[in-house]
Amino acid sequence: MEVKVRYAPSPTGLQHIGGVRTALFNYFFAKSQGGKFILRVEDTDQERYSDESLQDLYDTLEWLNIKWDEGPVVGGPNGPYIQSERFDLYQKYAKQLVEDGHAYYCYCSSERLDEVRKQQQESKSSYQGYDRHCRNLSPEEIAEKEKEGIKPVIRLKVPTEGKTTFHDVLMGDITRKNKDISPDPILLKSDGFPTYHLANVIDDHLMGITHIMRAQEWIPSGPLHILLYKAFGWEPPVYCHLPMVMGKDGKKLSKRHGSTSVRDFREKGYLPEALMNYVTLVGWSFDSEREFFSQEELEKLFDITKISKSPGIFDYKKLDWFNGQYIRMMSDEDLGKALLPYLQKAGYVDGEFIGDKKAKFEELVVAVKPRLKVLSDIVGLAYFLFTTPEVAPAEMFVAKKMDLKSSYEALVKDYEIIKSNLDNGKSFEDAEADITQMAKDIGVKVNGVFTPLRVALTSTTVSLPMSDTYNLLGKEESYRRIEAALKMLEKEVQ
Ligand code: GLU
Ligand code: ZN
Repeated sequence: MEVKVRYAPSPTGLQHIGGVRTALFNYFFAKSQGGKFILRVEDTDQERYSDESLQDLYDTLEWLNIKWDEGPVVGGPNGPYIQSERFDLYQKYAKQLVEDGHAYYCYCSSERLDEVRKQQQESKSSYQGYDRHCRNLSPEEIAEKEKEGIKPVIRLKVPTEGKTTFHDVLMGDITRKNKDISPDPILLKSDGFPTYHLANVIDDHLMGITHIMRAQEWIPSGPLHILLYKAFGWEPPVYCHLPMVMGKDGKKLSKRHGSTSVRDFREKGYLPEALMNYVTLVGWSFDSEREFFSQEELEKLFDITKISKSPGIFDYKKLDWFNGQYIRMMSDEDLGKALLPYLQKAGYVDGEFIGDKKAKFEELVVAVKPRLKVLSDIVGLAYFLFTTPEVAPAEMFVAKKMDLKSSYEALVKDYEIIKSNLDNGKSFEDAEADITQMAKDIGVKVNGVFTPLRVALTSTTVSLPMSDTYNLLGKEESYRRIEAALKMLEKEVQ
């Protein structure tokens, strides 16, 4: 039997880490089994639907290089793959359930339902939910309601006795007493829109889905779906509910932990390969050691039995580390191409770098490569080079345990040492060694003497190593900046 799985998001928000993890697990499982991966858009909730979310879904999967075998845009034999284009079908199947005695029309007004709920709460009844008022209406009563022009909903007849069990690959058998299942949930609303349960089950069946891999929060819907499959006389698929994605504090991953939308990660300059690799390791592992996997490797190696039962932890620091590693693996040329848009956006360059600037840019790429966690780090790191920053405020020149006067004096000495080295045919690295020695001689931490130099050259306290900074700026501009800083500090200490 060919494996067929699906990712079935509702386009009601941006794609987030949890959703994408579900998509990846489905995709890799399908590929590893030589099966098919289907994309289905569950847009039955028209109030929460947005075009932006749908576009974001497509953009995200494209960016990650996840291609679907059947679905919107590409089509396929079981389309359409957008639920709002399948409404006739849901109506047909819902009516069939009524005819077969598994579902019924309910004409209750929302006022009546509110009243029932209020009474249940007031009497502290253990029974909460729809009171099944319309479950046994006589044909005469139904005719009466129809005459009044009331548009009914269709509800599922959930058995009131017995129990329902479904099997989950990871969790084993999950059993629920039928009396604890939501009493007769709505399948079709009065405006003809299906609810999630109806559309989801019909589509999974008609699209030939063999395995359902979805978030654990859908487990409570499991028994209800099994009842629906039974009512239709269909064989349910295999279930595999995926472990939750948590933050490091053990709480469900949310905005409180940091960005969760893939768009944010993309904009900050995470690489799709790194995100894909890391996210696949949240709740899955190949063995206890191996961490690096290319997409192609995961397409072969992914194994559903290695999904963990316990929640997966999404660790932002670990993702940063992965991203840094992936950046280091890029060629200088590719990295340059990837960094350019960030410099353009920061206004450091219009279009491409040309001439001298191009050479500088290439040098810069080599210098930043070992230091970038995310591509957007380039903006801060390259600020000194593509702008002519004002001399920083005096306090910035002062490292811990230093004061303004000693910082000024340190910079005077730094400059003397740099000049005497360079004038005597030595390199900037030689000057750095002498500055380090000078710090020892005067009994000051290296930071104390390098901070003033760093701030003079870059107007920032976090930068590339001094020699890279100097080489990128060139002698003339470096001297000019040091002198401008000295002039300002001189006035301040007087
Ligand atoms: N549309 C549902 C969601 O957004 C799909 C759940 C399922 O996979 O059955 O998560
Ligand atoms: Zn009713």
